Amino acid sequence: MEHITGSDRNQIKMICLEQMIEKEGLVRIIDAFVEMLDLETFGFSYYKLNKEGRPPFHPATMMKIYLYGYQHGIRSCRKLEKACKTNIEMMWLTYEQKPHFKTIANFRKDNPKAFKKVFRYFVALLKDWQLVDGKTIAIDSFKIRAQNSLKNNFNERKVKRHLDYIDNKIAEYEQALDQESDQAEDASIKERIGQQQIKREAYKNIGQKLKQTNDGQISTTDPDARAVVFQRNSVKVGYNIQAASDGKHKLLIAADTGDVNDTKALAVMVGKAQENTGQKKMNVLADKGYHSGREIKACEELGATTFIAPKASSSSKTNPEFAMDSFHYNKREDTYTCPAGETLFTNGKWYHKKLLHGRKSYRFKHYKTKACAGCNLRSQCTTNKLGRLIERTEYQPYVTGNNNRIKKNPEYYRQRQQIIEHQFGTLKRHWYFDYTHTTGKQKVLGEVYLAFTCYNLKRTLTILGFKELMARLKACLMTQSQILTLSKIIEHSWRAIKSIFIARTPNRPSGLNSIYLMG
Ligand code: SF4
Repeated sequence: MEHITGSDRNQIKMICLEQMIEKEGLVRIIDAFVEMLDLETFGFSYYKLNKEGRPPFHPATMMKIYLYGYQHGIRSCRKLEKACKTNIEMMWLTYEQKPHFKTIANFRKDNPKAFKKVFRYFVALLKDWQLVDGKTIAIDSFKIRAQNSLKNNFNERKVKRHLDYIDNKIAEYEQALDQESDQAEDASIKERIGQQQIKREAYKNIGQKLKQTNDGQISTTDPDARAVVFQRNSVKVGYNIQAASDGKHKLLIAADTGDVNDTKALAVMVGKAQENTGQKKMNVLADKGYHSGREIKACEELGATTFIAPKASSSSKTNPEFAMDSFHYNKREDTYTCPAGETLFTNGKWYHKKLLHGRKSYRFKHYKTKACAGCNLRSQCTTNKLGRLIERTEYQPYVTGNNNRIKKNPEYYRQRQQIIEHQFGTLKRHWYFDYTHTTGKQKVLGEVYLAFTCYNLKRTLTILGFKELMARLKACLMTQSQILTLSKIIEHSWRAIKSIFIARTPNRPSGLNSIYLMG
């Protein structure tokens, strides 16, 4: 018996790429999907050709490279270049074209807006195919690392620490200079002092810039990246990516990136989901990180109904019997009734709470009662010397409404995890989408849209199956080519009408002719 052996390396073979590709492989779906896209309308660069110079690769080729690469965890432009030379599916997909890695990188860098349009077009198509209904959506976020090390991210404390270190170093060198008599050594110390002073100037400049920022931090490599708390409280510089998923088939319908936490992201995401799906009335499920009265109100104004997990107040943990939930609000009288049955009144005055780092302030009213002074339960209810004080914000009616919906529909809220979280696992674990290859918010978002389009494409394949999806993509291609033919016919007819008109008005001044034609 012998080991299994391979074929002869020197044997010349007749190879047909078409036959080597799986009959119902994902690569064929990617090919059909890109062929179906009208790339010119999406504004891809390199679509229009220059009269001179080397012709560029067609955006369709580059788009196929990226869609294939992202679905197989190949995101680096050098690895994609290598895949074009060695991966049979990629060779089939690109008709054996092999773009340079810089060309591949530039395509991703130059087309973030076009990636967004492709994603939105695909979501609209999914709505047409009734795979997305936009009635129940879930919103959540995940964090990715940016192209900016923690070393190149500064806050005031860090700058001060650096300046103190440099000052100490300069003092040390100056002391050494006083004691040194050797001229060569003197020059060397002066040079080192000079270097420290240059560094000092650089940190002082960063300190100045820091004063103009809203959130008290600066990233020098990627100015849009921020220090973000990742798992187990480890801090890295990155982006907090917001994602919205539709409840019907768990397809992604919107994306955004902005703040490092989720408190102010909900209304923006709801707006985007409504825009992409064309569905105004929707139920929105989100975890407690999104719980904010202002955002709940904004969502309701947009026509969405929120189901956001309420945040537990500090008092509900220490003494649940006297937590805010135990105080009943009387809408008609604008008073509260406490667990001891006493009524807490307001003076009717609105107070303003100012918040740090450019966050918008909010209004609230105070509610209190004189009965606290003689109350037996006071030690359990409050530590405030003046008795229990309740603050009711202007957003409380919206918060109460949301919290009541959660209380009444716990099973419905529990769908949130099923709708949104598993996509993050696929993106981060399977496709290694836990860091970005680009810098700047817009380009990073472009990469996110690219990854989300890949996800939706793969998910749609699972839902519909190969034959059905391929048939639908081909039908879209047919419709588009029919529209193109129709527009060409209209254009030709219009030209013919114009030429007849010009021929019948030969004595008109040319300027007037052109005015008629413009009309
Ligand atoms: S301390 Fe005041 S608010 Fe609290 S239970 Fe007693 S009377 Fe009510």
